[in-house]
Amino acid sequence: MSVTDTLTRRTDFPGLAGGWHYLDSAATAQKPQAVIDAMSAALGKDYATVHRGVYARSANMTLAFEAARRTVAQFIGGREEELVFTRGATEAINLIARCWPKKGRVLLSVLEHHSNIVPWQLNGWQVDVCPLTADGRIDLDAAEAMLTPEHEMVALAHVSNVLGSVLDVSRAAELAHRVGAKLLVDGCQAAPRLKVDVAALDCDFYAFSAHKVYGPTGIGALWGRADLLDAMPPYQGGGAMIDKVTFERTTFAPPPQRFEAGTPAITEAVAFAAACDYVSAIGLDRIHAHETALVAQCRALLGARNDVTLYGPEDSAGIVSFMMDGVHPHDLGTILDEEGVAIRAGHHCAQPLMEHLGVPATARASFGLYSDETDLAALVRGIERTKRIFG
Ligand code: PMP
Repeated sequence: MSVTDTLTRRTDFPGLAGGWHYLDSAATAQKPQAVIDAMSAALGKDYATVHRGVYARSANMTLAFEAARRTVAQFIGGREEELVFTRGATEAINLIARCWPKKGRVLLSVLEHHSNIVPWQLNGWQVDVCPLTADGRIDLDAAEAMLTPEHEMVALAHVSNVLGSVLDVSRAAELAHRVGAKLLVDGCQAAPRLKVDVAALDCDFYAFSAHKVYGPTGIGALWGRADLLDAMPPYQGGGAMIDKVTFERTTFAPPPQRFEAGTPAITEAVAFAAACDYVSAIGLDRIHAHETALVAQCRALLGARNDVTLYGPEDSAGIVSFMMDGVHPHDLGTILDEEGVAIRAGHHCAQPLMEHLGVPATARASFGLYSDETDLAALVRGIERTKRIFG
């Protein structure tokens, strides 16, 4: 069976109209009509504020907002009282880096996105860096040797946004817990392509962004164990996060509201849930199988060329990073754009990983549930044309 036969949902996505070959889903995914419709209704006929209205429209919107929290939590196997809406994965990681009561040592890895490096630095953590295996996975044997009882936190990407390598989260959790540390998983690239069950993975925090799971920008989620969230002070101050305010003393609401100061991203939350529903209806197992087939085909097509270097393991999830000999990824990306093919070229917010790979940038093709063989064929045509231009 061809890749195209297993799953093709292009017509659900107005952003793909006109035959555009979108290979940048790891940056952000296109939106299905169901998400656009949910957002439009929430901004239109259903619009009202949440949590304070005495009128029916607001009460209904509050129900929809809290139902969205439940849907998003269940999407990753969690419970609604453990699900904090944030602006995205970046804010979720910043929240933990800032609010975790003890800023001790944190173990990161070479392949982390800047959003899982800089927040720890900004908040005074002592950062240790776990190396990678030769094929680009986080080396958990090395992590085991590095971890000490001084480590408060281990924070690792579930799927690398550059290499597509997949972390063995359960083992990382076991290693972290053995020394008394907590495990925060950056699930940005995993949530759109792997079935996530935070209970089975045994992690302590899980962060991801709606816009990568076919939902809107401006919202994401931090899942955390109830007892851990409960022990943390607020992130920001304002409305909605309080219990009682006086000028002498303010007491705070329990989680998740404690971490959600101000009027929340109401319409985005409703659309986020619509995206989770859309993805769940297709099934992450199918999406994963589909993307795995595309990665295998892409790696075979590019790997057969003598002018392309591939990065990352064979079984990478939905993402293929590569370099064309003698062609800067930006030039490749520009020529591909003329062919109607969108890839990402650059450091992918992972400069330490680029340094490790010894390159300033890579070209990256990343897939979504709507990607198919025509995208791969267009990519190869564009690479051929680039080769002709660069001689
Ligand atoms: N971590 C990873 C692995 C990512 O790919 C990204 C987005 N490129 C982020 C974190 C940050 O996500 P956001 O910008 O949506 O907060």
